[in-house]
Amino acid sequence: MSQGRVIVIGAGVIGLTSAVRLLEANYDVTIVARDLPGDLTIEYASPWAGAHFRPLPVTNAAEALEQNLIRETYAEFEKLASSDPSSSVRIVPGIEYFDSPSKSYTDLKEEAGFCTWPEFRVLAQDELPGKGAGPIKWGATYRSWVLNSPVYLSWLQRQVELRGGRVIRHTLSAIPEAVFIASEQLKESQLEFVAVVNASGIGFGDPASFPSRGQFLLISNPCDATVSYQTADGEAFVIIPRPLSGGTLIGGTKEVNSWNPTPSEESTAGILENVAKMYPKLLTAPSNDPNGEPALHLLYPTVGRRPMRKGGLRLEKEISSIVLPQSGGFKSKTKELKIVHCYGAGGSGYKLSWGAARRVVELVGEP
Ligand SMILES: Cc1cc2nc3c(=O)[nH]c(=O)nc-3n(C[C@H](O)[C@H](O)[C@H](O)COP(=O)(O)OP(=O)(O)OC[C@H]3O[C@@H](n4cnc5c(N)ncnc54)[C@H](O)[C@@H]3O)c2cc1C
Repeated sequence: MSQGRVIVIGAGVIGLTSAVRLLEANYDVTIVARDLPGDLTIEYASPWAGAHFRPLPVTNAAEALEQNLIRETYAEFEKLASSDPSSSVRIVPGIEYFDSPSKSYTDLKEEAGFCTWPEFRVLAQDELPGKGAGPIKWGATYRSWVLNSPVYLSWLQRQVELRGGRVIRHTLSAIPEAVFIASEQLKESQLEFVAVVNASGIGFGDPASFPSRGQFLLISNPCDATVSYQTADGEAFVIIPRPLSGGTLIGGTKEVNSWNPTPSEESTAGILENVAKMYPKLLTAPSNDPNGEPALHLLYPTVGRRPMRKGGLRLEKEISSIVLPQSGGFKSKTKELKIVHCYGAGGSGYKLSWGAARRVVELVGEP
């Protein structure tokens, strides 16, 4: 029996994953979103992501909390990689290179978090590019996952629809408007609205939200691993293969509060140069000339905005009073409605998606 109606605002990785788990928990789910899988607008973060798993050291309580969500998600992606190849999720080696890593990476104590992932191993000097004689002085490897984000988002939408969920395209002016839009579609439904999930990426006018611009390049070269490199002067480069013939994403910049939607030629040149040096195995001959010079083959640059938030992911519920859809006129009826917020995932939305979705279901079910 249905537990009642839930409206999910947003069809990014957070909204879609939450919708799947809510449907599995027997809620009737309607997604209302401005952007849907298949769209490529800059405000819609999810299709621009690599996306890959990369462990980060845990240095405070907020990071420890996110780490638990990331572990749950890791377990789910391991299952998906073997149970459903059409999801595009694949297990690949993860490799980290550093010119001069901070202690939080090289500290191999369990509680530091970084070294606790499956198949973690510090690389020997002769496994590093330049065999330790170049700028890269430290490295590690572990078991990672990658996915092809546009393909994975469509797969998630299919999972929602296969479980009976509905998807409506609409741009909302405010959270309560979602109840009116969803009611229009199912006028005859007797089910009660129990909650609205706000998975809108940056939230509705939250002053703590801000963007981090990420410029990446899609190249046609295939790659057998996901690789990250942090230089001594604080720059970071990554290589993320996109399974199911999606090429490889290389990048990428992290430009806090930059609203520039246009790719920068300087960033493109910097990414190509550094990535070629950090993982020469990626360079291959052109597909139409097997004897040609090995190189990186640029398809196009991409620009996305990570939905950052001071204080990290907002994952909590609040009770709000809303005007009921059928009550217009001078004597509007109001109702207390639960709003479950799940936005501000920053650069980790995929990494924590299944853990966050489990928590969303708990918050929806709480009194
Ligand atoms: C370049 C780049 C690389 C990244 N790499 C990684 C990675 O390797 N690993 C990782 O885990 N994460 C990565 N991320 C981060 C990840 O992409 C985000 O954390 C994640 O996509 C956020 O998902 P979301 O569902 O919260 O937001 P979004 O994907 O932005 O979705 C928000 C949804 O809300 C809807 N919405 C918003 N406002 C309204 C409104 N007013 N009315 C109706 N609907 C509305 C939108 O239309 C959309 O459907 C990367 C991000 C970028 C940009």
